Amino acid sequence: MSYHVPDLPYSFNELEPHIDAKTMEIHHGKHHAAYVSKLNAAIDGTDLGNQSINKLITTLNTVPDSIRGAVRNNGGGHANHTLFWEIMSPNGGGEPSGELREKMNEQFGNFEAFKETFSAAAATRFGSGWAWLGVKSDKTLCVCSTPNQDNPLMPMAECPSTPILGLDVWEHAYYLNYQNRRPDYVNAFFNVINWTKVAKNYSACLAVSTSATS
Ligand code: MN
Repeated sequence: MSYHVPDLPYSFNELEPHIDAKTMEIHHGKHHAAYVSKLNAAIDGTDLGNQSINKLITTLNTVPDSIRGAVRNNGGGHANHTLFWEIMSPNGGGEPSGELREKMNEQFGNFEAFKETFSAAAATRFGSGWAWLGVKSDKTLCVCSTPNQDNPLMPMAECPSTPILGLDVWEHAYYLNYQNRRPDYVNAFFNVINWTKVAKNYSACLAVSTSATS
């Protein structure tokens, strides 16, 4: 078995004007596709492809030394982008409701404070990487960032958690439209966040027993 690039749940131009069609086309069709083809090449001849991509990166320590680096970079790239496409929507934006909103209010004070914390994590990630909203094994929310294509599910993550929202801050994600203005891109991202999907991801984390995640 091998991994494949999932279809986008919307058209390339549907996130405009916040994310432009050309960026989406290249990002999904070229960048994500390259991570998947390099991942498949790295695991060729093994049975590592017979599991979900999240399971593969969670158990990265069991991947043979000779291909662990390639699986970290390209498996991370596949997992990260797969989540990224899902948590955006042409009908996105606004603010979350329900139990996710209640938890945000409890931990951050209010939505604006959460947005500031998340935006700061995205803005201060030096070089290429990702900003995350994750759920820790004790079910609390955490905001963090990772370098390159690392993911909070990976065993070496400094902020171990299950990501429910992720933002790609590699320049390839925003350079055509925003050039060096990463903060403008981060701000625009909030107009396309699919909070319904993020809330579902949060509920799924709550449904997992603590003993299974720790
Ligand atoms: Mn990317």
